[in-house]
Amino acid sequence: MPGEGNPKAEVMFIGEGPGTNEDKEGRPFVGEAGRFLEEMLTSVSLKSEEVYITNVVKCRPPNNRDPLDEEVRICTTNYLYDQIRNIKPKLIVTLGRHSMHQFFPQIRSISSVHGKAYKKGGQVYLILYHPAAALYQQNLKNTLKDDFKKIPNILRQIDAK
Ligand code: URA
Repeated sequence: MPGEGNPKAEVMFIGEGPGTNEDKEGRPFVGEAGRFLEEMLTSVSLKSEEVYITNVVKCRPPNNRDPLDEEVRICTTNYLYDQIRNIKPKLIVTLGRHSMHQFFPQIRSISSVHGKAYKKGGQVYLILYHPAAALYQQNLKNTLKDDFKKIPNILRQIDAK
């Protein structure tokens, strides 16, 4: 599951790893979390074809276990970091704790940083909750929708600099 979207995307979304359906179809976010992601993209007038959507790990670990550190290392050093270098997004949006940890290993809790943009090594990141985590928790869902709506403004601020 490499990811999909515009190879020149301004915004790159990085989830955790493919679920069963994503792994079978070779596409990211095809299930219910994907529909919710699509709905949020529409809310900020973005189409899935103009952004790039991918995951930290590219294969689903057996029996749905968490990926091993070594698997994360292989997937990031062989794929994800090259994808970022090639696409050169203005903004990387991390979806969920695992994706956040990949770029901000020192941040302990996503609850204190979600919805905030950070600049690190010349790259701007926005940290969001994972759409699957928010699906069945109305509070989280509303928070994620509100955080998502910050994307256009963050892009404008990047352009203004
Ligand atoms: N969850 C993820 O993190 N990524 C997907 O592609 C699907 C569900």
